[in-house]
Amino acid sequence: MIELGLKIDVDTERGTQIGVPNLLKLFDELGIKATFLFALGPDNTGRAIKRIFRPGFFQKISRTGVVQVYGLKTLLNGVLWPGPNIAKKHSALMRDVGKSGHEVGIHCYDHIFWQDNLHKLKEPIVRQEVNKAHEAFQEVFGFLARTMGSAGWQASHHSLAAYDDHNLLYASDTRGQKAFFPQVDRRIFTTLQIPTTLPTLDELLGRPEYPLESMTAHYIKLMQPKGLNVLTIHAELEGMAYFDWFKEFLIECLHHKIKIVPLKTMAHKLLEKKFDIPILPLLQGTVDGRTGTLAVQG
Ligand SMILES: [Zn+2]
Repeated sequence: MIELGLKIDVDTERGTQIGVPNLLKLFDELGIKATFLFALGPDNTGRAIKRIFRPGFFQKISRTGVVQVYGLKTLLNGVLWPGPNIAKKHSALMRDVGKSGHEVGIHCYDHIFWQDNLHKLKEPIVRQEVNKAHEAFQEVFGFLARTMGSAGWQASHHSLAAYDDHNLLYASDTRGQKAFFPQVDRRIFTTLQIPTTLPTLDELLGRPEYPLESMTAHYIKLMQPKGLNVLTIHAELEGMAYFDWFKEFLIECLHHKIKIVPLKTMAHKLLEKKFDIPILPLLQGTVDGRTGTLAVQG
């Protein structure tokens, strides 16, 4: 039987307000439990506009229709007005996710700041961002976060060190094919990494070789019966603009007897055989369909 770990990155205020409730209702209908990771600080999505000057971004907006997906207000957050603090404004919505039996964790404090700057930041600043996210999480949920999956799959030796201080069950910052303990240079980190193994929808959308009609079949073909299967979706895409496609995708998975689980279920099982988990390098690499570099399994 194929097992699929399902992680939802909630990047924006709009995704929290609209995408999350949509997904909760759908998961409830289908009897699915998943992992929701929240952006807990200011929604400064508008600052991503500066990425227009980076190669590949124009291609991406025309592929996914970024204004249509994010909405004009979101795209001006942090540019024309201060970014709204997502956890402060929407804590009740976030708690609903936990109360519905889903795993909840941290995506980031400030998505744009982390995604654009992580590799330039000194260790204390990285630690401060991680700590701010944990404080905000605890304020919302009343318990300590046990998982993090970073914004834009951006991870470094500084972020992994900060993670190790927080007694996480696991983290999910990388793209790769199997669970591992990450090594950067000579340092081995103690927090288990469960990578995203499958391409994300926005990496495939709009490419002639992946028409939406055959996307589900493509995904199912990519899943490994005996290997690790982890899919990351976005509240703003699969929970909103591509909700109908995602619903069909999930129904098709259930028809194929694919068991959808939160990532913590995978982590508990993996950690029962902790000494079988390999130590592998965490490197900076590229993924087809995504701009810039991100953390990949070596
Ligand atoms: Zn994100």
